[in-house]
Amino acid sequence: MNSKSSIHGLLFEELAAFCREHGQPAFRAKQIWGWLYAKRVASFDEMKNLPAPLRNLLGEHFCFQCLEKIETKGATGQTQKLLLKLEDDELIEAVLIPARARRTVCISSQVGCKMACAFCASGQCGFHRNLTAGEMVEQVLFAAEIYGERPTNVVYMGVGEPLDNYDETLKSIRILNHPDGLGIGARKITISTSGVIPGIERLAGEGLQVELSVSLHASENELRSKLMPSNKRWPLNALLQACSDYTAKTKRIITFEYTLIKGMNDLPEQAQKLTELLRKFPCRVNLIPLSEVEEFNGERATPEAMQYFFKTLEKAGINATLRDSKGSALKAACGQLRARKL
Ligand code: SAH
Repeated sequence: MNSKSSIHGLLFEELAAFCREHGQPAFRAKQIWGWLYAKRVASFDEMKNLPAPLRNLLGEHFCFQCLEKIETKGATGQTQKLLLKLEDDELIEAVLIPARARRTVCISSQVGCKMACAFCASGQCGFHRNLTAGEMVEQVLFAAEIYGERPTNVVYMGVGEPLDNYDETLKSIRILNHPDGLGIGARKITISTSGVIPGIERLAGEGLQVELSVSLHASENELRSKLMPSNKRWPLNALLQACSDYTAKTKRIITFEYTLIKGMNDLPEQAQKLTELLRKFPCRVNLIPLSEVEEFNGERATPEAMQYFFKTLEKAGINATLRDSKGSALKAACGQLRARKL
């Protein structure tokens, strides 16, 4: 196994410090950064305006592409799923979701997941390890290569719980967001969390304009704990308080994700309960149909039940959207991504 870390896992300031420590002039970091993210070359050798000794030095210290593309599923211009191999042979998935002018990439933040949500395939084989910032940034670069342009939006909704890998996730965001790099605007970056309260609290203090999505899926503790065991640790009332504090501090509106499961969380009284919970503070609600997952014995809600849920929220003045889930034919939809071994 290659023990060198990824050049894509360095913050601009870290790259600048590396250059300085090795007696390089200050402009080198900007040149290297431009090759990495504006020109997106595939090796140090292609960095033509760097002296050869510096290219060699970089190669001695860093690996360039630590991920390997194993498989691409789906047609160009439509939802595509990438299977990527990490240096330790672990496999992760990333999904490209083009829609009109948007080129979105959905990336993984961990190999496996500790959260073990009943309806989600990602955590079914347990947790293996955190991804590094470089491994997250590289997923975005693979998407850029396929799109032929840099992605416009990045969502941390692949395998893993991003707020359970807080430092590396935030680092990857700062790298993606850097104006001389890919320059992906913070508002075009979405972190989705199952409700890790300490992470939400920390994020509130970062001064970042990123979008935050919180996966709710139930409006009372008993059902939520069944669907999402992490609810026992971070129950609904504490979670909603953390969300409300987040909004008060950042002035950013949170999106709540609610996956509708037939006969389980899609009943009229549950819609009513949800409006009562959320009426208190400004938010959006995304209603998502359940994607089929072998291990979960649940069905997606009927279109009628979804409509009823949507109307109930709308009538209560809550900004709700009914989303159709992309990528289910490829098993690339929400909750269908999994960590695998070769
Ligand atoms: N761990 C994070 C991000 C990954 S999942 C989180 O929980 O938010 C992205 C979204 O897909 C979450 O809202 C998750 O609850 C939802 N999801 C998981 N499995 C699903 C399934 N089978 N059908 C529909 N949505 C699912």
